[in-house]
Amino acid sequence: MTGLIEKLYQTGNLSDEELLEVIAMNDDEASALLRKYADEVRQRVYGKKVFLRGLIEISSYCKNNCLYCGIRCGNKNAQRYRLDREDIMSCCENGYELGFRTFVLQGGEDPFFTDDFLVPVISGIREKYPDCAITLSLGERSRESYKKLKNAGADRYLLRHETASPELYSKLHPAGMTLKNRIDCLYELRELGYQVGAGFMVGAPFQTLRNIVEDLRFLQELKPHMIGIGPFIPHHDTPFSAAEGGSLQLTLRLLGIIRLMFPEVLLPATTALGTIAPDGRERGLQTGCNVVMPNLSPVMVRKKYDLYDNKVSSGEEAAECRDSLEKKIISAGYFVSDERGDHISINN
Ligand code: SAM
Repeated sequence: MTGLIEKLYQTGNLSDEELLEVIAMNDDEASALLRKYADEVRQRVYGKKVFLRGLIEISSYCKNNCLYCGIRCGNKNAQRYRLDREDIMSCCENGYELGFRTFVLQGGEDPFFTDDFLVPVISGIREKYPDCAITLSLGERSRESYKKLKNAGADRYLLRHETASPELYSKLHPAGMTLKNRIDCLYELRELGYQVGAGFMVGAPFQTLRNIVEDLRFLQELKPHMIGIGPFIPHHDTPFSAAEGGSLQLTLRLLGIIRLMFPEVLLPATTALGTIAPDGRERGLQTGCNVVMPNLSPVMVRKKYDLYDNKVSSGEEAAECRDSLEKKIISAGYFVSDERGDHISINN
């Protein structure tokens, strides 16, 4: 198995069958080698920097009914809220004070957030914080809308493809939502000049290891600037309440594989990873991750953005605990960068 890790490190690629073997491996020596090489590659491109993103969860309303998600519209027990312009600006103000230089506006697909609402919010942030990056994660919208939001000052867009398999996609989403539309959105965003993030859940219901190989192949085609992966975690009020969650080991292995296949990618150690293991975030950083996204939403609403059970939003996940997060990052062997943390291309 160490031979395959060596090959992945040297060439940045493997055949489908070889990838399957590495994804499924249960070999301590090979896992240690994968971790070592993933860290070496991330250090070669990004040094020991960790980029922080302040995550502002602007709405828990969603018109979609994704079977895995706690804020799906069919969950009548979900607590709904939406932030107004002043709330969002005050989150940014707070985040800027705390040293954040990227703000991520994420939310369910809430029809309230029209372009007429979002454009002045984005241009307001752009004007007040010219040195900051603005990332959006607001789901599928029209090309026209993406263009308006880009022109208003947005720099990046996170839209996980969720799975590259149309069959699996249809098991995770209701009829009416299509993988094709999601993928079209990703290509449109890239064409419009956004730095684009795609990704998927690890261990989603019905997902096979071959599906994960398909995800990696899709990512090779799309060439996103960011890749967000985290374990699937069941939510008690969804059709997948009794499903098994994704494992820490598989998620870490995939993070290492992704770093070797995509040396330049921005790769977050996600909240979901920090939720399934107290040291998940640090272990992610030691396996190729270089981004952490602490929660900058108003404290009052954090519990309501309830995508999965036990989602962490306190301690080091909370933006206001930046100092203790920074200590943990330092003790894991890295340091917090004060830059915007854009994607860099080593070939330029
Ligand atoms: N509405 C936007 C979108 O569709 O991209 C952004 C919000 S959406 C809730 C953000 C991400 O949360 C999804 O892309 C999905 O991968 C992740 N997510 C949702 N439910 C989850 C669960 N039960 N476990 C882990 N991740 C989950």
